[in-house]
Amino acid sequence: MLKAVYGPVPSWRLGRSLGIDPVCKRNVCSFDCVYCQLGRTTDIITERKVFVESGRVRRDLKGIWKRVKGNADVVTLSGTGEPELAENLGELIEIAREVTGLKVAVLTNSSLMDREDVRKDLAMADIVVAKLDSPNPEIFEKVNRPHPSIDFGEMLKSMRKFRGEFKGKYALQMMFIDLNKDYAQEMRKLTEGIRPDEIQIDTPVRHSPVRPLTQEEIEKIKNVFEGTNYISVYDKKKPEVETINREETLERRPE
Ligand code: SF4
Repeated sequence: MLKAVYGPVPSWRLGRSLGIDPVCKRNVCSFDCVYCQLGRTTDIITERKVFVESGRVRRDLKGIWKRVKGNADVVTLSGTGEPELAENLGELIEIAREVTGLKVAVLTNSSLMDREDVRKDLAMADIVVAKLDSPNPEIFEKVNRPHPSIDFGEMLKSMRKFRGEFKGKYALQMMFIDLNKDYAQEMRKLTEGIRPDEIQIDTPVRHSPVRPLTQEEIEKIKNVFEGTNYISVYDKKKPEVETINREETLERRPE
């Protein structure tokens, strides 16, 4: 069985990031993104449940924290599956903050944000990084291949609603690949309604079934986002960090 805590990993977006995996099960997600570095989703679900008992996370985190202290900037809830699916997400955020005293981030695909209990849990974090890869339902189907019950319009509506409820740092992650690279203008338009604190222009530079866009292609997309508060994968340097448990880390971030 996978351990719930991994890393720390060098993140171009968050710094030295200690990971907590709220799902600990490969290929469980509400999306099946074409670029997913973990491969195809075999269990595509939207029901929330407890995948990893909170007590186990607390024990794992306390165990590793003595060795990691001073070598991490943030605790990030992310890993093998979608964190919003974890019914105990809010509790895990509290545990992460209590044990480490660090800021807590959640990386999410935004798919369950229309649920009040999910938004309430996410709002307990200091940083929420929400995925938005598509300008319209057609591209959404092609890029993210969501669970059939997920409606693109409703998802966008809930992403705008969350902005009004969340006092922390709200970032949008946009993963650009061949399928959506020509829609940057439309995607910029969508961000105006969401009003994020930051836009992260990304492409799958790590292990992925699809090719990452080149630096030149990303430059063109950056031009479209000129005047917004964006950061981009090719511009940011990754920090140096000592990973404590390499095997557990590779399960979540294959090289
Ligand atoms: S949302 Fe993340 S974990 Fe889920 S399929 Fe997409 S990339 Fe993979």
